[in-house]
Amino acid sequence: MDRTTVADARREESIGKQVRLQGWVRTRRDSKGGFSFIELNDGSSFGNVQIVAEGALPNYESEIKKLHVGCSVTIEGEVLKSPAKGQATEVKASNVIVHGWCDPDAYPIQKKGATFEFLRTVGHLRPRTNTFGAMARLRNQVSYSIHQFFQEQGFLYVHAPIIGASDCEGAGELFRVTTLDPAKPPLLDGKIDYTQDFFGKPTFLTVSGQLQAEIFACGLGKAYTFGPTFRAENSNTSRHLAEFWMIEPEMAFHDLYDNMTLAEAFIKRIITDALAKCPEDMQFFQERIDKEILTRLEGILKTPFLRVTYTDAIDILLKSGKAFEYPVKWGIDLQSEHERFLTEEHFKNTVILHDYPRTLKPFYMRVNDDGTTVRAMDVLVPGVGEIIGGSQREERLDVLEERMRETGLDPAAYWWYLDLRKYGTVPHSGFGLGLERVLLFLTGMGNIRDVIPCPRTPKSAEF
Ligand code: ATP
Ligand code: MN
Repeated sequence: MDRTTVADARREESIGKQVRLQGWVRTRRDSKGGFSFIELNDGSSFGNVQIVAEGALPNYESEIKKLHVGCSVTIEGEVLKSPAKGQATEVKASNVIVHGWCDPDAYPIQKKGATFEFLRTVGHLRPRTNTFGAMARLRNQVSYSIHQFFQEQGFLYVHAPIIGASDCEGAGELFRVTTLDPAKPPLLDGKIDYTQDFFGKPTFLTVSGQLQAEIFACGLGKAYTFGPTFRAENSNTSRHLAEFWMIEPEMAFHDLYDNMTLAEAFIKRIITDALAKCPEDMQFFQERIDKEILTRLEGILKTPFLRVTYTDAIDILLKSGKAFEYPVKWGIDLQSEHERFLTEEHFKNTVILHDYPRTLKPFYMRVNDDGTTVRAMDVLVPGVGEIIGGSQREERLDVLEERMRETGLDPAAYWWYLDLRKYGTVPHSGFGLGLERVLLFLTGMGNIRDVIPCPRTPKSAEF
């Protein structure tokens, strides 16, 4: 007999079929009539399928009546129309095979109401809970939508390297990659001699695939990366991971406004697909995590994103009369409290802030004619704050070199990046979207550690 998923067995069209289901018991309860109900889940859908196991089964007393949450089983039987409310089908078992027992007293995740903090300590078991099952399916769907969106628009998927020699954002947040012996590294004039290291120079885990995406955009048109990125920020916030997944599209001949238009269509596509393809999982997040989430997401789909300059945003914050923890003035880096005031209280909408002070932003962002701002954009969403950071890139060789020196970078180290401007330079733009920030935004979950399979944060890399 072919294997059937629980998702399939729950569909009305399956009534009358013989099926073979394989999964984990969620609950078992015994009926007075001498039979048992087993709720079975195999990860294929949020909902379980109900199995009816009759007392006449040969292993009823010896095994079936000992099944508990967590036990793994194969169940063969027929799909019937269910007389019970809230489910179209149930499966009448003709054969129940137990693969693995699970001691209910010792099983760490058997209790209802386990906190997310606790579940992080049993990260290897948490995918078996409702929340983390729903999250895994949603994360899978979002990843698929991301590829579909760009593929349908003719973007090339580029695999950016994980190991890099240049720091795109400035020092301090990098994980070093080295094969030197930390106990006795080779020294030259009292300093570590990295010419003897594996790559013959200092290397780090990438913080962004943008510069490599630019290589491909500035030659082939439109490209995107989708891979892990690493930041050794010791910040321990609920929005920062040391290892997270970033999507970075890069487009030749696109200006900042084209970039905004793409970012908006991209986010809306992700939301539309999540609602359409994961309705049960999204319903769960609505009921159990954030009662506003579906209305909020549907509202965002209906309204255009606002576009507001940094300078106007500062004015709004100054005029708000709010006492912020970080005082507001032109030139400051906006903090989460400012971003959330703008999106949640003032505009009550998604906002794209653009044209930031040049002193706040990296060297590769295009300098405006005013000389003091750059063509940067951040997409801020209610509930999370920044989920996208992007810009039009500086395509003028002389300005780019000047910006590098101004931010303390050695143009010689970026000779290949400068070559893209030396030979057939083009106006171009791109942005970076953090996958985990999107998942926070879609689900209302409060901590970024709970939207990635195996979180990497300061002092924590267990599973
Ligand atoms: P923030 O100000 O929130 O630290 P950033 O300005 O450092 O973000 P960028 O360098 O612009 O972020 O990175 C692009 C996107 O990557 C961000 O908009 C965000 O979605 C995501 N991101 C950045 N840092 C992290 C992190 N440590 N963990 C998870 N996602 C992140
Ligand atoms: Mn950061």
